[in-house]
Amino acid sequence: MKIACFDMEGTLTPEIWEQVALDTGIEGFNKTTRDIPDYGELMDFRLELMASNNLGISEIQNAVNKLDLLDGAKDFLDEIKESFQVVILSDTFHEFASPLMKKMGYPLLLCHNLDLDKDGSIKGYKLRHTKAKQQAIEAFQSIGYQCLAAGDSYNDIQMFDVADHAFFMNAPEKIAMEFPKIPSFNKYDDLKKAFLEVV
Ligand SMILES: [Mg+2]
Repeated sequence: MKIACFDMEGTLTPEIWEQVALDTGIEGFNKTTRDIPDYGELMDFRLELMASNNLGISEIQNAVNKLDLLDGAKDFLDEIKESFQVVILSDTFHEFASPLMKKMGYPLLLCHNLDLDKDGSIKGYKLRHTKAKQQAIEAFQSIGYQCLAAGDSYNDIQMFDVADHAFFMNAPEKIAMEFPKIPSFNKYDDLKKAFLEVV
């Protein structure tokens, strides 16, 4: 039994911060790892924007509650679970990811933690590891599991570097073209087929 490792936002769900941008009208929240590849730099930027606009955890939770999985993602995951163990390796945060986890049927989620103040303002964040996705895959491999990985953006390259099989899913053409050795898909059926070829 191999482990299927999925990025969450952009791969299985919409981008959470884009919904925050929509709700607040603040354009800066639309930036993702596609725009600022260094995740620490991106989070620092987001938290400064939150603080300067007096926004806290509840605004993000409200945004997440409005989101649905991407079309076909739930069926895809259900089918993949028949042949693989499924884990979500995400740069999201435990403090607001749970509504999406519920919609996915509560797969194992490995991500980061926020440092919250009593009033719900966000004091900071704690990345589990600077290369948390890569670290997780190497850990699974160290206990004898082969890993497949699928993601849509720059922050997934670290897991593609070590995974036994790597695939882009929903990646912008620009990013997929920078890494021509990684097969790139836009339909879950195609990704499922690629996964099942290496069961
Ligand atoms: Mg993503």
